[in-house]
Amino acid sequence: MKKTALITGATRGIGRQIAITLAQAGYDIAINYRKENEELKNTKQEIEQTGAKCLSLQGDVSNYEDCEKIAKQIIEEYGKIDVLVNNAGITKDTLLMRMKKEDFEDVINVNLVGTYNMTKNIIPYMMKNRTGRIINISSVVGISGNAGQANYAASKAGIIGFTKSLAKEVGSRNILVNSIAPGFIETAMTDVLKEEIKEEIAKTIPLKRMGQAQDVANVVKFLASEESSYITGQVIHVDGGMLM
Ligand code: NAP
Repeated sequence: MKKTALITGATRGIGRQIAITLAQAGYDIAINYRKENEELKNTKQEIEQTGAKCLSLQGDVSNYEDCEKIAKQIIEEYGKIDVLVNNAGITKDTLLMRMKKEDFEDVINVNLVGTYNMTKNIIPYMMKNRTGRIINISSVVGISGNAGQANYAASKAGIIGFTKSLAKEVGSRNILVNSIAPGFIETAMTDVLKEEIKEEIAKTIPLKRMGQAQDVANVVKFLASEESSYITGQVIHVDGGMLM
């Protein structure tokens, strides 16, 4: 029986690349999206071209009931869930002096509460099967902090604490929980930055370039595989040496 993987926020960027990479590695895929659009259609098409099944499941990860519905749909269709990748994330950057309460709450609700919502609804099925992999996408700024990102850095630091705590709770059930902390990856999220700023940041990275979504997807593939079966509660940096 093929293994199955759910990736949240998988219409574009890192989530899309993770979904395609796991499809190529032989998983049946469920991609979660918020709004139906061309990006969703293209991603689904590319996944199906690998020969994998692809369910596309609408829902906002910050909404608990949406996550409950998504978990039930996967079980109805696939009968089990082997890998959950909590990838959906947003930024609302500004200095704390200017940060509105909603800017803080929205980012925490999608990034951190969203990770809780999806995990809470998936984990009972993994517990029952006594196997599972949960991979949470954090960020290097969750470790280092970053001016203008108090909301985002807090959400990503929270994901690391969540990952380590859950890893301790469910290790005895053979459920492995890890986190990835990407550095500066070329996606729509970082496209908003001016070219000069991107060049300045790239100079500070030991590998002297931005990362690609594929760099993160490769590590997800490893953490989902049997080759990582003695690794849990870890934060793997994929950042070209940016933070060390
Ligand atoms: P992206 O291109 O902006 O993609 C984010 C994805 O998340 C989109 O598909 C988006 O869908 C989805 N999403 C947002 N809010 C959602 C919600 N409430 N419910 C469901 N889906 C939602 O960003 P990315 O760069 O690929 O980032 C992916 C993850 O990596 C994020 O967690 C991000 O924080 C993390 N990360 C990125 C970088 C980087 O440099 N790019 C660095 C470190 C960490 P919509 O179309 O609906 O918005």
